[in-house]
Amino acid sequence: MAQLQRIAIAPSQLQEHQILLTPQQQHYLKRVLRLGEGEQFIAMDGLGKWWLAQITGEHAKVLKPLIVETELPVAITLIMALPKGSGFDEVVRSCTELGVACIAPVLSDRTLLNPSPQKLERWRRIAAEAAEQSERAFVPTILEPVTFKDAVTNSTASHRYICEARGEYSHLQSVITKIAGDVVIATGPEGGWTDREIEEAIAAGFQPVSLGRRILRAVTAPIVALSLISAACEV
Ligand code: SAH
Repeated sequence: MAQLQRIAIAPSQLQEHQILLTPQQQHYLKRVLRLGEGEQFIAMDGLGKWWLAQITGEHAKVLKPLIVETELPVAITLIMALPKGSGFDEVVRSCTELGVACIAPVLSDRTLLNPSPQKLERWRRIAAEAAEQSERAFVPTILEPVTFKDAVTNSTASHRYICEARGEYSHLQSVITKIAGDVVIATGPEGGWTDREIEEAIAAGFQPVSLGRRILRAVTAPIVALSLISAACEV
């Protein structure tokens, strides 16, 4: 099973056998995902078309179209504040089953835990096993932990949401009725986000959303969010 990274592109970026990458996409592929010249990745148009592509200078060469049956039509990135204990293992497993494309663990104001490199290896192994178990075509990318601020400001997704347990925000289900492209969704730690983090997220183009009237545990919220988004784009 291929461990290829995915990015969403607009159909207009595809020209003949080339993909014209935006500066943000170049940054994401080269700096965040650390892909070098000649390395391959998947470009998806968010409407169900996929291509295998290769980094070629500032842009990318299209190698071939891909046929995928078990992947969601949109690429979903989960930004998740690291929960205490081994809760993240379960989140990686469940969200992989639900179709997540990328998981970005973050250090937030209320989680100061900096995981060991062994943890990252373990999460990547769990993602690979879960992807195989649920017959996915691709293993989700698990990024190295970064600060919450870096994660939100580096996000280039066309739809950006942050789940907030308190406040009068629209329900996620009501804001994702017509999504195409890619989605990023952030869920907080046991102690919740700080006001400052919500403000930073809003400044980076994230919309605060609710997952219902009950307070969910930090490890439950991503599963609910992923289920709602996958249902909205797949059914
Ligand atoms: N202790 C906090 C709640 C934290 S719940 C408090 O009392 O306010 C952990 C995370 O799950 C939250 O930061 C949020 O991202 C998500 N979450 C839990 N319940 C939610 C809900 N009903 N709506 C939106 N997000 C929720």
